[in-house]
Amino acid sequence: MAEKRWIAETLFDPFGLRMTFAAERVLYETQTAHQHLVLFEHAHFGKVLMLDGATQVTTRDEFIYHEMMTHVPFLAHGGVREVLIVGGGDCGIAEEVLKHKSVARLTQVEIDPSVVEFSKEHFPEFAGPVLADPRFDLVIADGVDYVGRTERRFDVIIVDSTDPQGPGKVLFSYDFYAGCKRCMAKGGVLVTQNGVPFFQPDELTASIGHFRRLFADAGCYVAAIPTYVGGHMAMGWATDEASLRAHTVETIAERYAAAGRFPTRYWTPEVHKAAFALPRFIADHVAGAAP
Ligand code: SAM
Repeated sequence: MAEKRWIAETLFDPFGLRMTFAAERVLYETQTAHQHLVLFEHAHFGKVLMLDGATQVTTRDEFIYHEMMTHVPFLAHGGVREVLIVGGGDCGIAEEVLKHKSVARLTQVEIDPSVVEFSKEHFPEFAGPVLADPRFDLVIADGVDYVGRTERRFDVIIVDSTDPQGPGKVLFSYDFYAGCKRCMAKGGVLVTQNGVPFFQPDELTASIGHFRRLFADAGCYVAAIPTYVGGHMAMGWATDEASLRAHTVETIAERYAAAGRFPTRYWTPEVHKAAFALPRFIADHVAGAAP
């Protein structure tokens, strides 16, 4: 029997830490125009996608991140029609967004067409329903250019990006967030993939510092995702409507019922509310984020 290939996540090499997967089978590996892409099968996590040595999505735990990046801003807002996803090539978040019947149009701006192409084949459970939905439109572009020039206005903007390296670096910049503010509709909200504060505190404080110069209410909420090593994952939060994160569990539950109580495996009205209660070390990072 052939020796299994062990595939390492190199994102935390600077910390002397490597999460390493025993690949049952490498399904796809290539250097795209933008990044190194490898997809493999794992006995416990199912399909695992890595870009530039960073775990992006696994079949086994995708639901946690995808549900929390979508249903928290949606049910906090309560009347979402126009949605923008920046990044999100695997279509996992788009699939959650389109569970909301209120959505009139979802635009996904992805820089690397090959990530979407290969998701059609390898993540049909996400890409299938999404690409068949008439409300969905895909734009191949750099997110920073798109938010800087689009005439459209969005109720929710979800930044499902890679880490601040390679093509994803610009999606953590002040100019990008200023572009998001420019194309946000009144009462809208921005949520961002913002790393694991235990290892990436500067990434979080830098983003929140930028948010504070642009929005009235800036902070983050958290969830624990097994393959995003390091404990809590932070999801950046920026809006001019401070009331959006002050809703009671009852209000969130009513909105969930009105949205058709679609099935979830992680998100609940209680988890939604609790996600904004930050552990002190993360709250200190947020408090210390200077504009
Ligand atoms: N959930 C994952 C995470 O938290 O690390 C992210 C998943 S998704 C696959 C990330 C996507 O962001 C990739 O498809 C990548 O091509 C895209 N991306 C990176 N930089 C981008 C940019 N500047 N504009 C648009 N999309 C970008």
